[in-house]
Amino acid sequence: MMNIFCSMEDIVQHNCGIFGVIGNADAAKRTYLGLYALQHRGQESAGIVSTDGKNMYEYKGLGLVGDVFSDDKVLLKLLGDSAIGHNRYSTTGSTLFMNTQPFLIKFHAGQIAASHNGNIVNAQILRNEMEQNGSIFRTTTDSEVVLHLIAYSRRKTIPEMVSNAISKVKGAFSMLFLTSEYLIGVKDPNSFRPLVLGKKNNAWFLASESCAFDLLGVDFVRCLAPGELIILHRDNEPESFFPWGKRDKDKGSACIFEFIYFSRPDSYIFGESVEKVRREMGAQLAREHPADADIVIAVPDSSNTAALGFSQESGIPFELGLIRNHYIGRTFIQPTQHIREIGAKLKYSSVRGILKNKRVAIVDDSIVRGTTSKQLVQLIRDAGASEIHIRIASPPIVAPCYYGIDTPDKDQLIAANMSVEQIRDFIGADSLGYLSLDGLLSLKSLPKIGYCTACFGSPYPVKIDDKANKDKMGNG
Ligand code: SF4
Repeated sequence: MMNIFCSMEDIVQHNCGIFGVIGNADAAKRTYLGLYALQHRGQESAGIVSTDGKNMYEYKGLGLVGDVFSDDKVLLKLLGDSAIGHNRYSTTGSTLFMNTQPFLIKFHAGQIAASHNGNIVNAQILRNEMEQNGSIFRTTTDSEVVLHLIAYSRRKTIPEMVSNAISKVKGAFSMLFLTSEYLIGVKDPNSFRPLVLGKKNNAWFLASESCAFDLLGVDFVRCLAPGELIILHRDNEPESFFPWGKRDKDKGSACIFEFIYFSRPDSYIFGESVEKVRREMGAQLAREHPADADIVIAVPDSSNTAALGFSQESGIPFELGLIRNHYIGRTFIQPTQHIREIGAKLKYSSVRGILKNKRVAIVDDSIVRGTTSKQLVQLIRDAGASEIHIRIASPPIVAPCYYGIDTPDKDQLIAANMSVEQIRDFIGADSLGYLSLDGLLSLKSLPKIGYCTACFGSPYPVKIDDKANKDKMGNG
């Protein structure tokens, strides 16, 4: 999901989407469509690497999937029955062509391509060590570190080298590796980011979210387990390994924001439908913070499902009071203060006929800096609403994320610096209520696994080397 605020963006930002297939004659086209379905996870670059079992072919570029692959001849050159793809969301300043994925390297054991979703928290330390030993890095991403570790490994086969390499990294990583022989999927032992397995005829598929399978008519098979390394072959059944040992599901730390905001509502991740969980978040929010309102509206599109849940639980009718402009790209630059100030008006339009003289409950998924919420309240007041009650379908964000999601530093997070009442006053709402962390974790539909809730003030599940991560090395 994009936002006009560029470096001043006021929403938590997605990281990346990954997709892979082995054993399908149209592998590159399938990957292209899979990336389309995962476009919401990253909009800054897209790429595909394919293989025909002998050679490997790549094409990457900056921009949306449709722009990068606008010339259909490009896909025809990506030969073979196996491919991996990547949509990237990068942190500010690292939107460079050299950082586009998948990365493809040649090394002593052959060729290997990699796509990464997440953030490796010890990447800078590993990189420093390798640079001191003479390694030369081509990119500024954490993902490249894994490829260097693979090349360093003295294990015999590529799957063993991959297993050896990933055992040295820490943090959040759902990764795909493609060689002429294998498609390998890995999920970190904490299980931060989703990764799902699918099948159609004799082809196997891996994707960040199951919505990519639905577009292709691929059958969803299962979610990968925490710490699972799966090897997919052309002719054999998948083989699974657990380089860190088998983990209990409740010991993991799946990113709970995948359910709150990142994943598409039609996806199935971590063992449950996002739509089901998100709707229950809205219902729980209505129980915790009822609103004396005539209508419930959503901040579209990401809050639609929670707003429906709020409406159903409260009995207050759901209306489309805000319309989102889908044609504003992430690259929109704000040349003047005036344009910055009307930011929310460019992104959202209010429907005066619905809002005028109404007491409005607005459901949003989160508040980051508070600037967008403030602008939205003004927009809705200007449309004639008599009262505005903001309801947030997540707990207050009080700490930055170091596991692959681009959030601002603590000093810019409004909830880390103001009380709920002060935030209400700042954004100009008549009331403000956040979903509680206990309420969120007690939802019946939320799979009973371990979750990361560090951005809500819980301990970070994987130790952060602050110095190395302060500048959040361009992540994958
Ligand atoms: S800190 Fe927040 S956004 Fe980051 S992984 Fe944990 S829950 Fe997800």
